Amino acid sequence: MKVLLLGSGGREHALALKISQSALCSQLFIAPGNPGIAQCGTVVSHIGVNDFDAIKTFSIENKIDMVVVGPEDPLVNGIYDYFQQDASLQHIPVIGPSKEGAQLEGSKAFAKQFMMRHNIPTAAYQEFNESNYAEGQAYLAQHALPIVLKADGLAAGKGVVIAVSHEEAQQEFAQMIKDAKFGDASKKVVVEQFLTGIECSVFVLTDGTSYKILPTAKDYKRIGEGDTGLNTGGMGAISPVPFADAAFMQKVDERIVRPTVAGLKRENINYKGFIFVGLIKVDGEPYVIEYNCRMGDPETEVVMPRLQNDLLQLLQAVANGTLEHETIQEDPRAAATVVLVSGGYPEAYEKGKAITNIPANNDQQIIFHAGTKAAGDEIVTNGGRVIAVTSLASDLQEALTLSKQSAAQISFEGKYFRKDIGFEFVASN
Ligand code: ATP
Repeated sequence: MKVLLLGSGGREHALALKISQSALCSQLFIAPGNPGIAQCGTVVSHIGVNDFDAIKTFSIENKIDMVVVGPEDPLVNGIYDYFQQDASLQHIPVIGPSKEGAQLEGSKAFAKQFMMRHNIPTAAYQEFNESNYAEGQAYLAQHALPIVLKADGLAAGKGVVIAVSHEEAQQEFAQMIKDAKFGDASKKVVVEQFLTGIECSVFVLTDGTSYKILPTAKDYKRIGEGDTGLNTGGMGAISPVPFADAAFMQKVDERIVRPTVAGLKRENINYKGFIFVGLIKVDGEPYVIEYNCRMGDPETEVVMPRLQNDLLQLLQAVANGTLEHETIQEDPRAAATVVLVSGGYPEAYEKGKAITNIPANNDQQIIFHAGTKAAGDEIVTNGGRVIAVTSLASDLQEALTLSKQSAAQISFEGKYFRKDIGFEFVASN
């Protein structure tokens, strides 16, 4: 099979490596890719993930058999529908949901309404916009603290505010709706009950009827150790998640995953791809914090190395509607990813710093490129998150130690990484 993978981050490097290892893969193209991804296939750096016309031309010219979509943007923009509606592309399966299905991520109000319709446990909420603004102000005034305010649309992971006072809540509410703080994304706001618990991510692959649950993961979003400071795209991840035991996962399956897939089908929403369920465990019970319509980053960098299946075989089963016949096999080892970021990230940072001392991959470790680019003979930094180091070992502690050793060894000006990934689950870190 000839596969085109869209994206250029650490997640796509992990997907590219896994696809390139498939017995079914004859050729892998990645657009736009990065220098690390280039080791897994042919990088097509001039095609962006939202450039549907260029993707079409490329797919036809290169006789692509399958398109795998890494990030959410092209899905929310309707790449699945674009292929479906074009007679010259209809034969090429796109792994990812339709535009409507991608609304699970693209609109928090859509996701909340969907969960209500299908009795899926989530925090209590109300949605507001310009037309019921005064009602929203009154609702906030009587709401218990803290109050969670979410811009409805995509806001690059910044659209959620947890207000600790009523004044802050009112101010944020006004900024989102009246001042368009997040542009059109905050024309509508979801106001949600604050849940206290521990979070994890569950990844589901569905062919629209049946589904498989992939290895669980937990990511670490804050920039500072002990989960402090600003939110980032993700500073590290672990898999499996120690508290997501069989009893908990059974609840997740029965109360969340099964009704989600069944709900999509019942509503005739085409969904053949990954569903990322962001969960919180409250007093032993799972609640949905959010849905995403693609894999997580950096969770993919721990999930894919632990997945022992041939990924392309699974994706082919997704496309053909035969996923029920597949069985997920997990590597019994623990995986830990540590992300190296540019100094200053998630605020302003510099790019173009030479990266040296990148260790070679081995059975226990993979170096995934995120924000890197080639400059002459050098690899230089090209983003906030630069490299993700994933290690596999018989226990989490050992995996973390290996990742931190390589994170310390890799060198670029301004490098920073968290040394406490997985801190809740290991004795000393
Ligand atoms: P992401 O970057 O994960 O895509 P997002 O902007 O889509 O983020 P959410 O995942 O919905 O937003 O929320 C971001 C974070 O805010 C969550 O990971 C969680 O820590 C916190 N959060 C969201 N909703 C709640 C809630 N109801 N109770 C407590 N914390 C919450």
